[in-house]
Amino acid sequence: MHNISIIPIGSGSTGNCFYAETGKHAFLIDMGIGYRRVKEALARHQKSLDNIDAIFVTHGHYDHVKAASAIANHVTCKLYTNESVLYPLRNAKCEKVILEKDEPYVLAEDFTVKMFGVPHDYAYTCGFSFTSNDAKLSYVTDCGKMNKKIYNEIKGSDVVIIEANHDVEMLKSGPYPLQLQKRILSAHGHLSNDDCAQTILKLKEDGCSKFLLAHLSKHNNTPEVALETVRSLLNDDTIFLYACPEAGDDLLEF
Ligand SMILES: [Zn+2]
Ligand SMILES: [Zn+2]
Repeated sequence: MHNISIIPIGSGSTGNCFYAETGKHAFLIDMGIGYRRVKEALARHQKSLDNIDAIFVTHGHYDHVKAASAIANHVTCKLYTNESVLYPLRNAKCEKVILEKDEPYVLAEDFTVKMFGVPHDYAYTCGFSFTSNDAKLSYVTDCGKMNKKIYNEIKGSDVVIIEANHDVEMLKSGPYPLQLQKRILSAHGHLSNDDCAQTILKLKEDGCSKFLLAHLSKHNNTPEVALETVRSLLNDDTIFLYACPEAGDDLLEF
């Protein structure tokens, strides 16, 4: 049995949803991908929404919650998030649990989640780290700026899902209006490939070796550019790097 398994079902501004297992526990992170596609991606690997233990939601932006009501109709598990997401999730008919920021929450004897704040333009955006026995998985996207606090939360993870939103030069010379460019580049926007690479370099020095690059911009990035930016800074072939596709059903097992 694998310690951590992940299916990146959707990643980027059109919709975000990850399926993950740590130890015996299966869960979804975000619900920005339609029910049918989620179901199909899981079925391809003989997995099902019937068997998930929890759903975690990072924030209320449309690309993270748009399928919430449809998915919630097909699960019996609880949904874990922060207060600011309750309104966007009002039509999701399942029990909601408000997590306390920075407080580890024990879902089962061998399954703990910790929610932490992430600077982003939605009122209160969060990232998560999940621990199950010896396995730790962290998830940070929609993060304007990496800081020490977030870094300390994700440090020591076996696998880190981290935003590599844009290449700064592509963004500046790309199709987005100046105002939007400024928002994305701000400390409450999205994490650039360079910032992602710097963070991964530090995490590597702290012993992490597996990284999934997430929330890549369709207009201001490509999987090749994002991977190359990180690879060239790391200069280390032993590190596992994967660029999450906008839509996919790969099963990654660690
Ligand atoms: Zn987003
Ligand atoms: Zn967002």
